[in-house]
Amino acid sequence: MIEHLPDRLDLYAMAEAGRELRGRIDLASLERVLPLLSSPDGALQVTLELGKSHDGTRYLSGTIEGTLSLQCQRCLESMAYPLQVSFQLGLVHSQEEMGKLPDRFEPLLVSQEPAHVADLVSDEVLLTLPIVPVHTDMKQCRELATDYQTPNDCQRENPFAVLAQLKQKQ
Ligand SMILES: [Zn+2]
Repeated sequence: MIEHLPDRLDLYAMAEAGRELRGRIDLASLERVLPLLSSPDGALQVTLELGKSHDGTRYLSGTIEGTLSLQCQRCLESMAYPLQVSFQLGLVHSQEEMGKLPDRFEPLLVSQEPAHVADLVSDEVLLTLPIVPVHTDMKQCRELATDYQTPNDCQRENPFAVLAQLKQKQ
């Protein structure tokens, strides 16, 4: 186990050799994730394992753990989002190789070597983030947002009620 994450990795060479790496990556270095965060402070713990499976597939598997600060889309306050990602990627050079990849691997198209570790981590993080992050506990929203109002369903016109009226007329 190498206790350091380099900025760049030669994926195929490391898969051929069989390598395990572990380290931290600053949130501030994840350029594509950064715009979604309400705070750039903190780091993620990353483990990477590169190797060759019995059927010859070169793979990159690993885990990403940590906490992100996202903006709740209901109350617009910051919320802590615990992240726990695990992935198993099969390295491929082309679409053709992608088609032959065993089902248990997600394809990772390697277009450039050495690959940027920050890009690899960003891709996996972006895949797991909620499209609309909201506090799971509504109470947190109400406590934080003093001017938050519960939408009053009664004041809205119920489209089904209109349909029901139409049906009665027929
Ligand atoms: Zn909220």
